[in-house]
Amino acid sequence: MLRLYNTASREKEEFSPLELGRVRIYSCGPTVHDYAHIGNFRAFLLADLIKRYLRFSGFEVVHVMNITDIDDKILRRIGAGGKSLGEFTEHYSQIFFQDLHLLNILPADVYPRATAHIPEMVALIGRLLEQGLAYQREGSVYYSISRFPAYGRFARLDPSGMKEGISVDRDEYGKDDVRDFALWKAWVESDGEVGWAAPFGKGRPGWHLECSCMSMKYLGESFDIHTGGVDLIFPHHQNEIAQSEGATGKPFVRYWVHNEFVNINAEKMSKSQGNFYRLKDIGKTAEDIRAYRYLVVTSHHRTVLNFTLEALESSKAALRRLTQLRQRLQQAHGEGEAGLWKALAAAALAEFCAHMDDDLNTPRAIAAVFGLVNQTERALNQGHLGREGAGAVLECLERVDQVLGIFYEVVEEVARPAELPPELALLLRQRQEARQARDWKRSDELRDQLAGAGVVVKDTKEGYEWSWA
Ligand code: AMP
Ligand code: ZN
Repeated sequence: MLRLYNTASREKEEFSPLELGRVRIYSCGPTVHDYAHIGNFRAFLLADLIKRYLRFSGFEVVHVMNITDIDDKILRRIGAGGKSLGEFTEHYSQIFFQDLHLLNILPADVYPRATAHIPEMVALIGRLLEQGLAYQREGSVYYSISRFPAYGRFARLDPSGMKEGISVDRDEYGKDDVRDFALWKAWVESDGEVGWAAPFGKGRPGWHLECSCMSMKYLGESFDIHTGGVDLIFPHHQNEIAQSEGATGKPFVRYWVHNEFVNINAEKMSKSQGNFYRLKDIGKTAEDIRAYRYLVVTSHHRTVLNFTLEALESSKAALRRLTQLRQRLQQAHGEGEAGLWKALAAAALAEFCAHMDDDLNTPRAIAAVFGLVNQTERALNQGHLGREGAGAVLECLERVDQVLGIFYEVVEEVARPAELPPELALLLRQRQEARQARDWKRSDELRDQLAGAGVVVKDTKEGYEWSWA
Protein backbone atom coordinates (compact mmCIF):
# COMPACT_ATOMS: atom_id res chain seq x y z
CA MET A 1 0.00 0.00 0.00
CA LEU A 2 1.48 3.32 -1.10
CA ARG A 3 1.98 6.00 1.53
CA LEU A 4 2.65 9.55 0.41
CA TYR A 5 3.82 12.55 2.39
CA ASN A 6 0.99 15.04 2.05
CA THR A 7 1.99 18.68 2.40
CA ALA A 8 -1.58 19.45 3.57
CA SER A 9 -1.19 17.34 6.73
CA ARG A 10 2.63 17.35 6.89
CA GLU A 11 2.37 13.59 7.36
CA LYS A 12 2.71 10.39 5.38
CA GLU A 13 -0.78 9.12 4.52
CA GLU A 14 -2.08 5.96 2.93
CA PHE A 15 -2.95 6.59 -0.67
CA SER A 16 -6.36 5.71 -2.05
CA PRO A 17 -7.94 7.46 -5.02
CA LEU A 18 -11.40 9.01 -5.04
CA GLU A 19 -12.47 6.69 -7.85
CA LEU A 20 -11.70 3.01 -7.56
CA GLY A 21 -8.66 2.13 -9.68
CA ARG A 22 -8.36 5.55 -11.35
CA VAL A 23 -6.06 8.36 -10.23
CA ARG A 24 -6.37 11.97 -11.33
CA ILE A 25 -3.20 14.08 -11.15
CA TYR A 26 -2.54 17.74 -11.85
CA SER A 27 0.94 19.21 -12.13
CA CYS A 28 1.88 22.86 -12.27
CA GLY A 29 3.69 23.07 -15.57
CA PRO A 30 6.25 25.48 -16.95
CA THR A 31 5.97 29.21 -17.45
CA VAL A 32 7.08 29.50 -21.04
CA HIS A 33 8.99 32.76 -20.75
CA ASP A 34 12.41 31.15 -21.14
CA TYR A 35 14.08 27.76 -21.44
CA ALA A 36 13.30 25.44 -18.55
CA HIS A 37 16.35 24.67 -16.39
CA ILE A 38 17.29 21.29 -15.00
CA GLY A 39 15.83 22.27 -11.60
CA ASN A 40 12.41 22.68 -13.20
CA PHE A 41 12.67 19.18 -14.60
CA ARG A 42 12.93 17.80 -11.09
CA ALA A 43 9.29 18.83 -10.66
CA PHE A 44 8.26 17.15 -13.91
CA LEU A 45 10.31 14.04 -13.15
CA LEU A 46 8.53 13.71 -9.80
CA ALA A 47 5.14 13.79 -11.53
CA ASP A 48 6.47 11.20 -14.00
CA LEU A 49 7.69 8.94 -11.21
CA ILE A 50 4.36 9.07 -9.39
CA LYS A 51 2.50 8.35 -12.58
CA ARG A 52 4.73 5.45 -13.53
CA TYR A 53 4.59 3.91 -10.07
CA LEU A 54 0.81 4.17 -9.92
CA ARG A 55 0.48 2.55 -13.35
CA PHE A 56 2.95 -0.13 -12.31
CA SER A 57 0.76 -0.72 -9.24
CA GLY A 58 -2.28 -1.28 -11.45
CA PHE A 59 -4.00 2.10 -11.43
CA GLU A 60 -5.27 3.96 -14.43
CA VAL A 61 -3.84 7.49 -14.36
CA VAL A 62 -5.15 10.69 -15.90
CA HIS A 63 -2.57 13.46 -15.86
CA VAL A 64 -2.98 17.14 -16.67
CA MET A 65 -0.15 19.66 -16.82
CA ASN A 66 -0.77 23.31 -17.57
CA ILE A 67 1.35 25.58 -19.71
CA THR A 68 1.51 29.10 -18.28
CA ASP A 69 1.55 31.19 -21.42
CA ILE A 70 0.55 34.51 -19.88
CA ASP A 71 1.93 36.08 -16.70
CA ASP A 72 3.96 39.03 -15.46
CA LYS A 73 7.29 37.55 -16.53
CA ILE A 74 6.14 36.73 -20.06
CA LEU A 75 4.76 40.22 -20.53
CA ARG A 76 8.03 41.76 -19.41
CA ARG A 77 9.96 39.58 -21.84
CA ILE A 78 7.80 40.24 -24.91
CA GLY A 79 7.82 43.93 -24.12
CA ALA A 80 11.53 43.82 -24.87
CA GLY A 81 11.50 41.60 -27.97
CA GLY A 82 8.70 42.74 -30.29
CA LYS A 83 7.28 39.23 -30.87
CA SER A 84 3.58 38.45 -30.44
CA LEU A 85 2.55 36.62 -27.29
CA GLY A 86 1.73 33.46 -29.29
CA GLU A 87 5.01 33.41 -31.22
CA PHE A 88 7.02 33.98 -28.08
CA THR A 89 5.40 31.29 -25.93
CA GLU A 90 5.15 28.75 -28.74
CA HIS A 91 8.90 28.76 -29.20
CA TYR A 92 9.59 27.93 -25.55
CA SER A 93 6.70 25.44 -25.34
CA GLN A 94 8.07 23.38 -28.21
CA ILE A 95 11.54 23.27 -26.67
CA PHE A 96 9.99 22.27 -23.37
CA PHE A 97 8.22 19.32 -25.01
CA GLN A 98 11.43 18.23 -26.70
CA ASP A 99 13.24 18.29 -23.35
CA LEU A 100 10.48 16.20 -21.76
CA HIS A 101 10.97 13.70 -24.52
CA LEU A 102 14.76 13.62 -24.03
CA LEU A 103 14.19 12.86 -20.35
CA ASN A 104 11.76 10.03 -21.14
CA ILE A 105 8.96 11.80 -19.28
CA LEU A 106 5.64 10.28 -20.30
CA PRO A 107 3.39 12.86 -21.95
CA ALA A 108 0.45 14.20 -19.96
CA ASP A 109 -3.04 13.50 -21.29
CA VAL A 110 -3.75 17.21 -21.64
CA TYR A 111 -1.47 20.25 -21.65
CA PRO A 112 -4.00 23.08 -21.29
CA ARG A 113 -2.76 26.60 -21.98
CA ALA A 114 -3.96 29.53 -19.90
CA THR A 115 -4.74 31.72 -22.91
CA ALA A 116 -7.06 29.03 -24.31
CA HIS A 117 -9.19 29.11 -21.13
CA ILE A 118 -10.04 32.77 -20.64
CA PRO A 119 -13.85 32.26 -20.73
CA GLU A 120 -13.62 29.52 -18.08
CA MET A 121 -11.45 31.75 -15.89
CA VAL A 122 -13.84 34.69 -16.27
CA ALA A 123 -16.68 32.36 -15.22
CA LEU A 124 -14.76 31.23 -12.14
CA ILE A 125 -14.14 34.85 -11.14
CA GLY A 126 -17.91 35.42 -11.61
CA ARG A 127 -18.63 32.61 -9.13
CA LEU A 128 -16.21 34.06 -6.58
CA LEU A 129 -17.74 37.54 -6.97
CA GLU A 130 -21.26 36.13 -6.52
CA GLN A 131 -20.20 34.46 -3.30
CA GLY A 132 -18.65 37.62 -1.94
CA LEU A 133 -15.16 36.11 -1.99
CA ALA A 134 -13.83 38.63 -4.47
CA TYR A 135 -14.17 42.34 -5.16
CA GLN A 136 -13.53 44.71 -8.05
CA ARG A 137 -11.23 47.67 -7.86
CA GLU A 138 -10.30 49.93 -10.78
CA GLY A 139 -10.92 47.25 -13.40
CA SER A 140 -9.07 44.51 -11.50
CA VAL A 141 -10.60 41.77 -9.36
CA TYR A 142 -9.03 40.60 -6.11
CA TYR A 143 -9.62 37.62 -3.86
CA SER A 144 -10.68 38.69 -0.40
CA ILE A 145 -8.61 36.43 1.84
CA SER A 146 -10.47 37.44 5.01
CA ARG A 147 -13.69 35.94 3.55
CA PHE A 148 -12.12 32.48 3.31
CA PRO A 149 -11.54 31.49 6.95
CA ALA A 150 -9.13 28.65 6.12
CA TYR A 151 -6.81 31.02 4.25
CA GLY A 152 -3.23 30.41 5.34
CA ARG A 153 -3.83 27.02 6.98
CA PHE A 154 -2.28 25.02 4.14
CA ALA A 155 0.85 27.18 3.99
CA ARG A 156 1.00 27.43 7.82
CA LEU A 157 0.84 31.22 7.75
CA ASP A 158 0.69 33.31 10.86
CA PRO A 159 -2.76 34.97 10.66
CA SER A 160 -1.54 38.06 12.47
CA GLY A 161 0.65 38.91 9.48
CA MET A 162 -2.19 38.95 6.94
CA LYS A 163 -3.06 42.27 5.40
CA GLU A 164 -6.74 42.06 4.56
CA GLY A 165 -8.35 44.51 2.19
CA ILE A 166 -4.92 45.52 0.91
CA SER A 167 -4.19 44.05 -2.46
CA VAL A 168 -1.07 42.84 -4.22
CA ASP A 169 -0.84 42.92 -8.00
CA ARG A 170 2.23 40.79 -8.48
CA ASP A 171 1.80 37.07 -9.20
CA GLU A 172 4.71 36.12 -6.96
CA TYR A 173 5.19 37.42 -3.45
CA GLY A 174 6.59 36.23 -0.15
CA LYS A 175 5.21 35.19 3.22
CA ASP A 176 5.79 38.65 4.65
CA ASP A 177 3.43 40.05 2.03
CA VAL A 178 0.21 38.10 2.58
CA ARG A 179 -2.53 40.19 0.97
CA ASP A 180 -5.57 39.99 -1.28
CA PHE A 181 -4.25 38.66 -4.58
CA ALA A 182 -5.29 39.48 -8.14
CA LEU A 183 -7.70 37.19 -9.99
CA TRP A 184 -7.98 39.59 -12.92
CA LYS A 185 -5.56 42.36 -13.74
CA ALA A 186 -6.85 45.50 -15.49
CA TRP A 187 -5.17 46.25 -18.81
CA VAL A 188 -2.34 48.78 -18.61
CA GLU A 189 -0.50 50.53 -21.42
CA SER A 190 2.60 48.35 -21.07
CA ASP A 191 0.51 45.21 -21.78
CA GLY A 192 0.39 46.36 -25.43
CA GLU A 193 -1.77 44.07 -27.53
CA VAL A 194 -2.29 41.53 -24.77
CA GLY A 195 -5.68 41.69 -23.10
CA TRP A 196 -9.12 40.09 -23.15
CA ALA A 197 -12.59 41.60 -22.78
CA ALA A 198 -14.41 40.63 -19.57
CA PRO A 199 -17.42 41.89 -17.62
CA PHE A 200 -15.02 43.58 -15.20
CA GLY A 201 -13.10 45.31 -18.01
CA LYS A 202 -10.30 44.48 -20.42
CA GLY A 203 -7.41 42.70 -18.76
CA ARG A 204 -5.75 39.37 -18.15
CA PRO A 205 -6.03 36.60 -15.58
CA GLY A 206 -3.76 36.37 -12.53
CA TRP A 207 -1.42 33.38 -12.53
CA HIS A 208 -3.01 31.51 -9.60
CA LEU A 209 -6.40 31.35 -11.27
CA GLU A 210 -5.41 29.22 -14.25
CA CYS A 211 -4.45 26.17 -12.18
CA SER A 212 -7.72 26.17 -10.22
CA CYS A 213 -9.68 26.60 -13.37
CA MET A 214 -7.97 24.13 -15.67
CA SER A 215 -7.43 21.41 -13.07
CA MET A 216 -11.14 21.42 -12.21
CA LYS A 217 -12.15 21.56 -15.86
CA TYR A 218 -10.17 18.46 -16.80
CA LEU A 219 -10.16 16.51 -13.54
CA GLY A 220 -13.31 17.54 -11.68
CA GLU A 221 -13.83 19.77 -8.65
CA SER A 222 -12.11 17.27 -6.35
CA PHE A 223 -9.20 15.15 -7.52
CA ASP A 224 -6.39 13.03 -6.12
CA ILE A 225 -2.87 14.40 -6.48
CA HIS A 226 -1.42 17.84 -7.14
CA THR A 227 2.32 18.22 -7.71
CA GLY A 228 4.81 21.09 -7.89
CA GLY A 229 8.00 22.41 -6.34
CA VAL A 230 8.09 23.53 -2.69
CA ASP A 231 8.34 27.15 -3.80
CA LEU A 232 4.74 26.88 -5.00
CA ILE A 233 3.26 26.03 -1.57
CA PHE A 234 2.89 29.73 -0.92
CA PRO A 235 1.36 31.71 -2.43
CA HIS A 236 0.43 29.66 -5.51
CA HIS A 237 -1.07 26.50 -4.01
CA GLN A 238 -2.55 28.29 -1.03
CA ASN A 239 -4.32 30.58 -3.50
CA GLU A 240 -5.46 27.68 -5.66
CA ILE A 241 -7.11 26.14 -2.60
CA ALA A 242 -8.79 29.42 -1.67
CA GLN A 243 -10.12 29.86 -5.22
CA SER A 244 -11.31 26.31 -5.80
CA GLU A 245 -12.70 25.47 -2.38
CA GLY A 246 -14.14 28.98 -2.12
CA ALA A 247 -16.02 28.51 -5.40
CA THR A 248 -17.17 24.90 -4.98
CA GLY A 249 -17.38 24.39 -1.23
CA LYS A 250 -15.74 20.98 -1.83
CA PRO A 251 -12.29 19.68 -0.90
CA PHE A 252 -10.04 20.49 -3.87
CA VAL A 253 -7.10 18.06 -3.68
CA ARG A 254 -6.55 14.92 -1.60
CA TYR A 255 -2.73 14.70 -1.69
CA TRP A 256 -0.31 17.56 -2.27
CA VAL A 257 3.12 16.27 -3.26
CA HIS A 258 6.01 18.74 -3.48
CA ASN A 259 9.58 18.32 -4.60
CA GLU A 260 12.55 20.02 -2.96
CA PHE A 261 14.90 22.16 -4.99
CA VAL A 262 17.85 21.38 -7.13
CA ASN A 263 20.62 23.57 -5.75
CA ILE A 264 23.83 24.62 -7.29
CA ASN A 265 26.64 25.72 -4.98
CA ALA A 266 24.15 25.51 -2.12
CA GLU A 267 21.75 27.99 -3.74
CA LYS A 268 18.43 27.32 -5.43
CA MET A 269 18.88 27.03 -9.17
CA SER A 270 16.68 29.71 -10.68
CA LYS A 271 16.28 31.77 -13.77
CA SER A 272 16.16 35.00 -11.82
CA GLN A 273 19.51 34.24 -10.09
CA GLY A 274 21.08 33.30 -13.41
CA ASN A 275 22.70 30.23 -11.77
CA PHE A 276 21.11 27.58 -13.91
CA TYR A 277 21.92 24.85 -16.39
CA ARG A 278 19.71 23.90 -19.25
CA LEU A 279 19.46 20.28 -20.23
CA LYS A 280 21.63 20.90 -23.27
CA ASP A 281 24.33 22.48 -21.05
CA ILE A 282 24.81 19.26 -19.13
CA GLY A 283 23.69 16.91 -21.86
CA LYS A 284 26.49 16.84 -24.41
CA THR A 285 25.57 13.23 -25.10
CA ALA A 286 22.43 11.16 -24.81
CA GLU A 287 24.08 9.34 -21.94
CA ASP A 288 24.45 12.58 -19.94
CA ILE A 289 20.75 13.31 -20.24
CA ARG A 290 19.84 9.80 -19.17
CA ALA A 291 22.25 10.18 -16.25
CA TYR A 292 20.44 13.34 -15.16
CA ARG A 293 17.16 11.46 -15.14
CA TYR A 294 18.84 8.72 -13.12
CA LEU A 295 20.32 11.21 -10.65
CA VAL A 296 16.96 12.87 -10.03
CA VAL A 297 14.76 9.80 -9.84
CA THR A 298 17.12 8.00 -7.49
CA SER A 299 17.28 10.99 -5.10
CA HIS A 300 14.43 11.39 -2.65
CA HIS A 301 12.05 14.10 -3.83
CA ARG A 302 11.81 15.63 -0.37
CA THR A 303 15.52 16.26 0.07
CA VAL A 304 17.48 19.02 -1.61
CA LEU A 305 19.57 17.79 -4.50
CA ASN A 306 22.87 19.60 -4.78
CA PHE A 307 23.77 19.32 -8.44
CA THR A 308 27.42 18.75 -9.32
CA LEU A 309 29.09 17.37 -12.41
CA GLU A 310 30.66 14.70 -10.16
CA ALA A 311 27.19 13.54 -9.10
CA LEU A 312 26.24 13.33 -12.77
CA GLU A 313 29.36 11.24 -13.43
CA SER A 314 28.51 8.78 -10.64
CA SER A 315 24.99 8.42 -12.05
CA LYS A 316 26.50 7.73 -15.43
CA ALA A 317 28.74 5.04 -13.91
CA ALA A 318 25.79 3.40 -12.10
CA LEU A 319 23.74 3.41 -15.28
CA ARG A 320 26.59 1.95 -17.29
CA ARG A 321 26.91 -0.86 -14.79
CA LEU A 322 23.20 -1.63 -15.03
CA THR A 323 23.24 -1.44 -18.82
CA GLN A 324 26.23 -3.78 -19.06
CA LEU A 325 24.61 -6.23 -16.71
CA ARG A 326 21.49 -6.23 -18.84
CA GLN A 327 23.53 -7.05 -21.91
CA ARG A 328 25.34 -9.88 -20.16
CA LEU A 329 22.06 -11.28 -18.90
CA GLN A 330 20.57 -11.19 -22.39
CA GLN A 331 23.48 -13.31 -23.60
CA ALA A 332 23.52 -15.75 -20.67
CA HIS A 333 23.05 -19.44 -21.52
CA GLY A 334 23.36 -22.87 -20.01
CA GLU A 335 21.92 -24.42 -16.89
CA GLY A 336 21.95 -22.98 -13.37
CA GLU A 337 19.97 -22.82 -10.16
CA ALA A 338 16.89 -21.28 -11.75
CA GLY A 339 14.68 -21.64 -8.66
CA LEU A 340 17.16 -19.79 -6.46
CA TRP A 341 17.47 -16.87 -8.91
CA LYS A 342 13.72 -16.61 -9.36
CA ALA A 343 13.40 -16.30 -5.58
CA LEU A 344 16.23 -13.75 -5.32
CA ALA A 345 14.79 -11.63 -8.12
CA ALA A 346 11.28 -11.76 -6.62
CA ALA A 347 12.66 -10.76 -3.21
CA ALA A 348 14.57 -7.82 -4.70
CA LEU A 349 11.47 -6.62 -6.55
CA ALA A 350 9.37 -6.94 -3.39
CA GLU A 351 11.93 -4.89 -1.47
CA PHE A 352 12.02 -2.31 -4.27
CA CYS A 353 8.22 -1.98 -4.04
CA ALA A 354 8.21 -1.80 -0.25
CA HIS A 355 10.57 1.21 -0.40
CA MET A 356 8.60 2.82 -3.21
CA ASP A 357 5.46 2.37 -1.14
CA ASP A 358 7.17 4.32 1.63
CA ASP A 359 6.73 7.78 0.13
CA LEU A 360 8.60 6.88 -3.05
CA ASN A 361 11.86 6.20 -1.28
CA THR A 362 13.85 5.72 -4.47
CA PRO A 363 17.34 5.81 -2.88
CA ARG A 364 16.47 2.72 -0.82
CA ALA A 365 14.53 1.16 -3.67
CA ILE A 366 17.52 1.38 -6.03
CA ALA A 367 19.80 0.07 -3.26
CA ALA A 368 17.61 -3.05 -3.14
CA VAL A 369 18.13 -3.46 -6.88
CA PHE A 370 21.88 -3.09 -6.48
CA GLY A 371 21.83 -5.84 -3.87
CA LEU A 372 20.61 -8.17 -6.61
CA VAL A 373 23.01 -6.63 -9.14
CA ASN A 374 26.01 -7.44 -6.92
CA GLN A 375 24.94 -11.06 -6.48
CA THR A 376 24.21 -11.44 -10.17
CA GLU A 377 27.53 -10.02 -11.31
CA ARG A 378 29.35 -12.38 -8.99
CA ALA A 379 27.43 -15.38 -10.28
CA LEU A 380 28.01 -14.36 -13.89
CA ASN A 381 31.74 -13.96 -13.27
CA GLN A 382 31.83 -17.42 -11.75
CA GLY A 383 29.72 -18.87 -14.53
CA HIS A 384 26.96 -19.93 -12.11
CA LEU A 385 24.04 -18.21 -13.74
CA GLY A 386 22.09 -20.13 -16.35
CA ARG A 387 19.71 -18.80 -19.00
CA GLU A 388 16.60 -19.21 -16.87
CA GLY A 389 18.10 -17.52 -13.80
CA ALA A 390 19.37 -14.68 -15.97
CA GLY A 391 15.86 -14.33 -17.39
CA ALA A 392 14.43 -13.90 -13.89
CA VAL A 393 16.94 -11.15 -13.01
CA LEU A 394 16.38 -9.49 -16.37
CA GLU A 395 12.63 -9.47 -15.81
CA CYS A 396 13.14 -7.85 -12.40
CA LEU A 397 15.23 -5.10 -14.03
CA GLU A 398 12.57 -4.53 -16.69
CA ARG A 399 9.88 -4.19 -14.02
CA VAL A 400 12.04 -1.71 -12.12
CA ASP A 401 12.52 0.20 -15.35
CA GLN A 402 8.77 0.56 -15.82
CA VAL A 403 8.95 2.74 -12.70
CA LEU A 404 12.31 4.50 -13.08
CA GLY A 405 12.40 4.78 -16.89
CA ILE A 406 16.19 4.73 -17.08
CA PHE A 407 17.05 2.25 -19.83
CA TYR A 408 15.59 4.24 -22.69
CA GLU A 409 17.43 5.31 -25.76
CA VAL A 410 17.58 9.03 -26.29
CA VAL A 411 16.32 10.45 -29.57
CA GLU A 412 19.69 10.68 -31.29
CA GLU A 413 20.21 6.98 -30.82
CA VAL A 414 16.75 5.93 -31.86
CA ALA A 415 16.25 4.83 -35.43
CA ARG A 416 13.49 7.17 -36.40
CA PRO A 417 11.13 5.50 -38.83
CA ALA A 418 10.13 7.40 -41.94
CA GLU A 419 6.53 6.36 -41.27
CA LEU A 420 4.87 7.45 -38.06
CA PRO A 421 3.85 4.65 -35.70
CA PRO A 422 0.05 4.06 -36.02
CA GLU A 423 -0.89 5.65 -32.67
CA LEU A 424 0.90 8.87 -33.59
CA ALA A 425 -0.47 8.85 -37.12
CA LEU A 426 -3.94 8.67 -35.57
CA LEU A 427 -3.24 11.75 -33.43
CA LEU A 428 -2.04 13.57 -36.53
CA ARG A 429 -5.23 12.69 -38.42
CA GLN A 430 -7.39 13.75 -35.48
CA ARG A 431 -5.55 17.05 -35.39
CA GLN A 432 -6.27 17.62 -39.10
CA GLU A 433 -9.95 16.91 -38.47
CA ALA A 434 -9.99 19.33 -35.52
CA ARG A 435 -8.44 22.02 -37.73
CA GLN A 436 -10.98 21.42 -40.47
CA ALA A 437 -13.71 21.80 -37.84
CA ARG A 438 -11.92 24.99 -36.69
CA ASP A 439 -11.58 23.53 -33.22
CA TRP A 440 -8.26 25.29 -32.52
CA LYS A 441 -8.15 24.32 -28.90
CA ARG A 442 -8.41 20.60 -29.66
CA SER A 443 -5.90 20.92 -32.46
CA ASP A 444 -3.44 22.65 -30.10
CA GLU A 445 -3.93 19.93 -27.51
CA LEU A 446 -3.22 17.25 -30.10
CA ARG A 447 -0.15 19.10 -31.35
CA ASP A 448 1.16 19.16 -27.77
CA GLN A 449 0.54 15.46 -27.35
CA LEU A 450 2.47 14.82 -30.55
CA ALA A 451 5.26 17.11 -29.35
CA GLY A 452 5.36 15.13 -26.13
CA ALA A 453 6.07 12.05 -28.24
CA GLY A 454 8.83 13.85 -30.15
CA VAL A 455 6.86 14.79 -33.27
CA VAL A 456 6.83 18.39 -34.50
CA VAL A 457 3.94 19.41 -36.75
CA LYS A 458 4.13 22.41 -39.04
CA ASP A 459 1.05 23.74 -40.82
CA THR A 460 1.53 24.59 -44.47
CA LYS A 461 -0.68 25.89 -47.28
CA GLU A 462 -1.19 22.35 -48.53
CA GLY A 463 -1.95 20.91 -45.08
CA TYR A 464 0.83 19.99 -42.74
CA GLU A 465 4.30 18.55 -42.46
CA TRP A 466 5.70 16.54 -39.62
CA SER A 467 9.21 15.77 -38.49
CA TRP A 468 10.97 14.21 -35.54
CA ALA A 469 12.01 16.75 -32.90
P1 AMP B 1 8.29 27.67 -13.42
O1 AMP B 1 8.54 27.39 -14.87
O2 AMP B 1 9.22 28.69 -12.84
O3 AMP B 1 6.84 28.02 -13.18
O4 AMP B 1 8.60 26.33 -12.59
C1 AMP B 1 8.17 25.05 -12.98
C2 AMP B 1 8.34 24.07 -11.83
O5 AMP B 1 9.72 23.95 -11.44
C3 AMP B 1 7.61 24.44 -10.55
O6 AMP B 1 6.98 23.27 -10.04
C4 AMP B 1 8.70 24.92 -9.62
O7 AMP B 1 8.36 24.73 -8.28
C5 AMP B 1 9.84 24.02 -10.02
N1 AMP B 1 11.18 24.55 -9.71
C6 AMP B 1 11.66 25.80 -9.96
N2 AMP B 1 12.96 25.92 -9.59
C7 AMP B 1 13.33 24.70 -9.09
C8 AMP B 1 14.56 24.16 -8.55
N3 AMP B 1 15.68 24.86 -8.46
N4 AMP B 1 14.55 22.88 -8.14
C9 AMP B 1 13.44 22.11 -8.24
N5 AMP B 1 12.26 22.54 -8.75
C10 AMP B 1 12.19 23.83 -9.17
ZN1 ZN C 1 -0.03 25.98 -10.86
